[in-house]
Amino acid sequence: MRYDVAVIGSGPSGASLAAFHAAKLGLKTIIIEKETLPRYKTCGGGFVFRGRKNLPFDISEVVEREFVDIDIAFAGKNLSFKTKRDKPIITMIMRDSFDHLIVKKAQEFGVELLQTEALKELKCGEIATLKTSTKEIQAKFVVARDGALSPTAKLSNWQETRMMCPALEYELEVSDEDFERLSHSARFDIDVVPLGYGWCFPKKNHLSVGVGNFMKTKKNPKLRENYHQYVDFIGIKNIISSSAHGFIIPISPRKDGFVKQNVFLIGDLAGFADPVTAEGISNAIYSGKIVAKAIAESNLDLRQAEKNYHDKLDEKLLLELKTGVKLAKLFYENKTLRNLMLKQFGQHLADAMTDVFMGERTYPHDYKKSIQKRLKKIVF
Ligand SMILES: Cc1cc2nc3c(=O)[nH]c(=O)nc-3n(C[C@H](O)[C@H](O)[C@H](O)COP(=O)(O)OP(=O)(O)OC[C@H]3O[C@@H](n4cnc5c(N)ncnc54)[C@H](O)[C@@H]3O)c2cc1C
Repeated sequence: MRYDVAVIGSGPSGASLAAFHAAKLGLKTIIIEKETLPRYKTCGGGFVFRGRKNLPFDISEVVEREFVDIDIAFAGKNLSFKTKRDKPIITMIMRDSFDHLIVKKAQEFGVELLQTEALKELKCGEIATLKTSTKEIQAKFVVARDGALSPTAKLSNWQETRMMCPALEYELEVSDEDFERLSHSARFDIDVVPLGYGWCFPKKNHLSVGVGNFMKTKKNPKLRENYHQYVDFIGIKNIISSSAHGFIIPISPRKDGFVKQNVFLIGDLAGFADPVTAEGISNAIYSGKIVAKAIAESNLDLRQAEKNYHDKLDEKLLLELKTGVKLAKLFYENKTLRNLMLKQFGQHLADAMTDVFMGERTYPHDYKKSIQKRLKKIVF
């Protein structure tokens, strides 16, 4: 079987979306997925508006809840901020039904799905040969999005240059009283975890509660302990059932490129999650969209597609991630400066962050100047 594009891993929204866009642009496309869909995916399921507005179809059938306001609090500092917009800042989804919906949309455009088949071998050349558990497939382009620990990246000899951070997430069924109290907003509690935050995301009938370290810690992370402290912190008294899921999030882009021979990396596999928030779905969708365009505009020429993809990444995403990496360092590691700024300009900064979530602005590349200007205001 021969295709223009083979997408490895359906889970990542980006992969399915790459398939969706690729097929829409007329490329013969197949998705290879080792699990049987729909499958559970460890994720808080908080989908910010910048990703939602980039989707070319309606997702209401998989929306669990939507929030036009969010709460951001800084533990122990008596600093808390609320922001509000007229569109949902954050939409709550479960990744099994959300990812499956995107695959189904891609299938409507003629994408083939090969599920319950893991990629085992990959041989690059003018045309790549992919061996799954039982099949052999040929494709000109291989778009890889098979997760943070991708076998495709390993098969194609990428080194590990991303910063990987651990996160723990629990799907919790709680008492009616706790659910009623916690189900009216999506909350982020910064500093309840060293170099990270805790979140409580209300779904239709349960809570997704999690904690993550979003900087490298010198000590061994104690996320399980942090999680129990966080549950106490938000006052959950009665847990009826709970299922724990842990994974890592790569929160800095790869340093050794995003294309090798036939293989193009997108989403988490490329290290495209937001370095400040570790939110990965929206950039997965964005990178899926631009990789499909890069291939379609190349006349199926490998080197032209590689150039197109790098040009499109340079236009916006890589710059944003580079600034994000520096801002995350400042945000989590320089708390004295951060808290000083928050005391004076906290609501303004929370609104600016919300604008990033809404896709209305990006991280300021001249953030150092802006900090100096504000510090002067504080001092004089
Ligand atoms: C605890 C936690 C909470 C998070 N919360 C949020 C959040 O609230 N909002 C947000 O935007 N982001 C969140 N993220 C980040 C987000 O989940 C990721 O950025 C995003 O989902 C991308 O992950 P992934 O899909 O690439 O990885 P994976 O889920 O690992 O997907 C990989 C897919 O590839 C398939 N696969 C693997 N190997 C093979 C193979 N050999 N052959 C074929 N298929 C294969 C897998 O079955 C799977 O479907 C969170 C991450 C974690 C760990």
